[in-house]
Amino acid sequence: MTSMKCPFCEDGQMVEQPYDTFVRSGRRNIQIEGLQHFLCDRCDQSLTNRRQTAHNRSVMQAAQDRDVITSVDAAFLQALRARHDLTQRAASRLFGAGESSFAKWESAQSAVSTPTALLLRCAAEVPGVIEHIAALRGEALPPTVEEAPPAVVHLA
Ligand SMILES: [Zn+2]
Repeated sequence: MTSMKCPFCEDGQMVEQPYDTFVRSGRRNIQIEGLQHFLCDRCDQSLTNRRQTAHNRSVMQAAQDRDVITSVDAAFLQALRARHDLTQRAASRLFGAGESSFAKWESAQSAVSTPTALLLRCAAEVPGVIEHIAALRGEALPPTVEEAPPAVVHLA
């Protein structure tokens, strides 16, 4: 364990320790774990050295990359519905969501959870998945509209 005298209070010891934080991604918070800094055992001031800053940047980037992979946006949802000729209400019912879920997701009134985003991506990207979901739900699926598959979405 590395430690040094605190430059803020000049009394406590700066002790290196891991910490977690949350960052905004669109309308959601994503948790970032395993960041590193020095924390004063007296005054609670923290600082990071160059090595910790580089480590923290790469941890943040990896978490944001993972989040993009498990995110969907309005264009993705609209393309998925268009491909299967589904209204917002019909799509919500098909996926077992609340009946206004697609409307809220597409207007960004509520965020798509990660498990739901993964399911929707599988339905969009893996042949037969949406048909299987329709069979499980006992829903008739309109014939597929042929067009390019929905693009993967990148959050700013
Ligand atoms: Zn201190």
